[in-house]
Amino acid sequence: MNISVRQPGRLESYVCGGWVAGSKEGNALLDASTGTPVAFIDSTGIDFTAVLAYGREKGGSALRRLSFHERALMLKALGMALLERKDEFYALSTATGATKADSWIDIEGGIGTLLSYASKGRRELPNTRVLLDGDVEGLSKDNSFSAQHILTPLLGVAVHINAYNFPCWGMLEKLAPTLLAGVPAIIKPASQTAYLTELMVRRIIETSILPKGSLQLICGSTGDLLDHVDGQDIVTFTGSATTGQRLKTGKAIVANSVRFTMEADSLNAAVLGLDAAPGTDEFELFVKEVVREMTVKAGQKCTAIRRVIAPRSYTEALVASLRDRLAKTSVGNPADEGVRMGPLASLDQRDEVRARIRDLMADAEIVSGDPENPAIVSGDAAGGAFLNPVLLYCDKPAAAGAAHDVEAFGPVSTVMPYETAEEAVYLARRGKGSLVSSVFTNDSGFVQEVVLGLAPYHGRVVIGNRVSAKSSTGHGSPLPGLVHGGPGRAGGGEELGGMRGVKHYMQRTAVQGAPSMLAAVTGKWLPGAAANSDGPHPFRKSLAELNVGDQLITASRTVTLDDIEHFANFTGDTFYAHMDEEAAKANPFFEGRVAHGYLIVSFAAGLFVDPDPGPVLANYGVDNLRFLKPVNPGDMLKVQLTCKEINPRASAEHGEVRWDCLVTNQNGEPVAQYDVLTMVAKVGK
Ligand code: NDP
Repeated sequence: MNISVRQPGRLESYVCGGWVAGSKEGNALLDASTGTPVAFIDSTGIDFTAVLAYGREKGGSALRRLSFHERALMLKALGMALLERKDEFYALSTATGATKADSWIDIEGGIGTLLSYASKGRRELPNTRVLLDGDVEGLSKDNSFSAQHILTPLLGVAVHINAYNFPCWGMLEKLAPTLLAGVPAIIKPASQTAYLTELMVRRIIETSILPKGSLQLICGSTGDLLDHVDGQDIVTFTGSATTGQRLKTGKAIVANSVRFTMEADSLNAAVLGLDAAPGTDEFELFVKEVVREMTVKAGQKCTAIRRVIAPRSYTEALVASLRDRLAKTSVGNPADEGVRMGPLASLDQRDEVRARIRDLMADAEIVSGDPENPAIVSGDAAGGAFLNPVLLYCDKPAAAGAAHDVEAFGPVSTVMPYETAEEAVYLARRGKGSLVSSVFTNDSGFVQEVVLGLAPYHGRVVIGNRVSAKSSTGHGSPLPGLVHGGPGRAGGGEELGGMRGVKHYMQRTAVQGAPSMLAAVTGKWLPGAAANSDGPHPFRKSLAELNVGDQLITASRTVTLDDIEHFANFTGDTFYAHMDEEAAKANPFFEGRVAHGYLIVSFAAGLFVDPDPGPVLANYGVDNLRFLKPVNPGDMLKVQLTCKEINPRASAEHGEVRWDCLVTNQNGEPVAQYDVLTMVAKVGK
């Protein structure tokens, strides 16, 4: 790979289908370790109304033409293409102050999120353009009026305003669910590190994988863009609470009820259990985790541990252990060998963190690290934004203010003692809502009290103990499948969380009507909708021939006592309800011996299956199996099997077909109901 050394150039925005530079030279963005310019940033002259219109019209309509699986495959192709170019991103990432390990979180963590959504999208979403939310709600006794919630993509754009600390991950973790939902995005990276986002967007655009208009980038100010957003747009924000609150109450956002997802300051806590005395595995794990969270990304992580809540009798040993480990953290230019922690993103940011440490000192004393005189192993001491880790101790945390309110966005944490589990929960909650907390304990009573106490104030809670020590992903790692966000001070937003994150970009609508009309809208058969039982057995039809609503009504089969005994002896399931008349009668649910539920399901398969080789390739399971009424010897079973949903795979020769299977008795009463899941060839042989 050819990695060019970049000369400080002017960053460009990618808008309305082309790269444009601002009309002014712009502000210099400086290398965090050396203070030398990396790039200049400016967006003056961009017509932001046109940017919004281009995204909505060009990008939105192109994305909405694709199915969920097609969009997921697009994310996969993009992720693979970015992985091939990762060395270039790593090289530039050093300028942000990131070490190799920090860059891995940002670059490969971000690409991994894209790939994770690509795979989840194909596994968990149908290959359609409309998403169904929940089950059919029956609204009439005769099945003539029902309802189904559906989700459709918003018709606007998603404006993503990102923080400076993760220029790649911050973009990709929001972009993946947005594009999967079918919504175009306008990315506004934080200026300080926008050069890395710009490079990645350049590489994305060069692949031509995304439809035109589905991704635009603004390097520099967003000008009047937020004055023109409307109710079909969505704005997400990551950064300081002050900016977030200002933007959230913007005139157009309030007037047009624009969805606004905010992720802001978060004073995340880590709680050491009452059982986790010095010398235990949990104590050691806790020390490692606090040090890791303080030093990764030089503590510039929204999920970093800011408050270290520990039993009072262990705090002396804890502070001593943390001090020892922190002292070994070599701080310097991340480009140099042996450096464990890089500088903060800028000198301004360091000034900000120093000011916040002074605020914290209203309640706490510094017990490790000197914020004013950095000891570094390499780098430019004057031009680089270096800061050694700073540990504070707050002896009376219940009476403290700043310790729970001030976020020093750097390698800074405050240790605070507690006496009881209740008090630990109280102190953690004083953060007024956080992204994440962790609890290190091996005591099931303590963990229950603390986790349930923390949960209403947190988006995520991690339990650390000796069993999960090797496999745990740790306190500070948001994962694509898990919710990332928190209530209150943390902004009240929610991102990621697997498919939950996709739904934030879609509108939920309850559609009510006659079942056949609902089926026409959703593409899914439901009870009461028209069905077609003419023509060949539905198992003889390939996906090209099969239609939703194709139905088979089978002949009847009588269940005998011999059948029940044969099944019991053959399978070994000789439960008394099938074998002992007296005992079965004594059971409040039965009037005598009954057929096994699995016998009913097996007989049903015997009734509906077409045995010859054909387009049906495999039965890969059943969903929602319920036995609704006991089947007694002499009862006659009949099956109604209806093609409920067809899900052709975008990249395979087959697709999934979901069949509604209703088993009734001689009185037409349902005895069992479930969905049969099959793989069916796209084309018949
Ligand atoms: P800011 O709130 O200043 O900026 C966040 C983002 O908002 C940046 O992209 C910024 O762009 C943009 N922005 C600022 N003003 C406007 C505006 N009027 N219209 C549109 N966009 C705007 O935060 P910083 O990035 O400077 O970080 C400051 C503090 O935020 C940190 O010290 C930390 O406390 C907190 N933070 C919290 C995070 C979290 O996830 N909880 C993550 C990162 C930071 P620009 O850079 O061009 O000004």
